[in-house]
Amino acid sequence: MSKDHMRLLLIEDEKKVADVVARGLRAERFAVDAAHDGTVGLEMASSVNYDLVILDLMLPGLNGTELLRRLRRQGSKAAVLVLTARDATSSKVENFEAGADDYLTKPFAFAELLVRVKALLRRPPTTNTHSLRVADLEIDRLTQQVRRAGKRIELTAKEYALLEYLASNPGRVYSRTMIIEHVWDESFEGLTNIVDVYVRHLRTKVDEGHEQKLIRTVRGAGYCLTDGTEP
Ligand code: CA
Repeated sequence: MSKDHMRLLLIEDEKKVADVVARGLRAERFAVDAAHDGTVGLEMASSVNYDLVILDLMLPGLNGTELLRRLRRQGSKAAVLVLTARDATSSKVENFEAGADDYLTKPFAFAELLVRVKALLRRPPTTNTHSLRVADLEIDRLTQQVRRAGKRIELTAKEYALLEYLASNPGRVYSRTMIIEHVWDESFEGLTNIVDVYVRHLRTKVDEGHEQKLIRTVRGAGYCLTDGTEP
């Protein structure tokens, strides 16, 4: 992966913050476009295939949560990092449900943002077994395409990361804490319900309409993905 090919969109109306972030990311050799209100931001995000969108929530024109909802409805799979003020009224869960992949509270240090950006852009390591298969579910780790019974399933970056993690070891139970640390690259103290939210999304996309359910809840322990054939 070359960073030169990574396109980032920054949607932030606070000029000082936008300048610092854009300058810092460009110094890291990312290609960065910037929008200063929600309406323009959505237009740009809809017309260019960005790898990552950094999205402030309090925006003129169209607020960040609504922008995100519309972007996901259009089928955008860009990773989305949400920026918000500490006392923001909209809840983290609401924004994760709208399709955010990660979250950063203002004020933040640029170094902290950079860590999140890199984690979100990181692709799963290329391995020999780039294709995972559980029952009729197929995951291609190179193209990150997912199919069930031959039918393509569209996932956001985080949904994909979660599914790939569960599928990497079918039948193994992963705790919410393990999932948070692996998929979100950090410990989200008290935020483990985010995992439940994402598993719910995955179930809708992967299991709904299929007789065989692959994603299982193991009470008191966590989640696993299995076709029931593991020892
Ligand atoms: Ca703002």
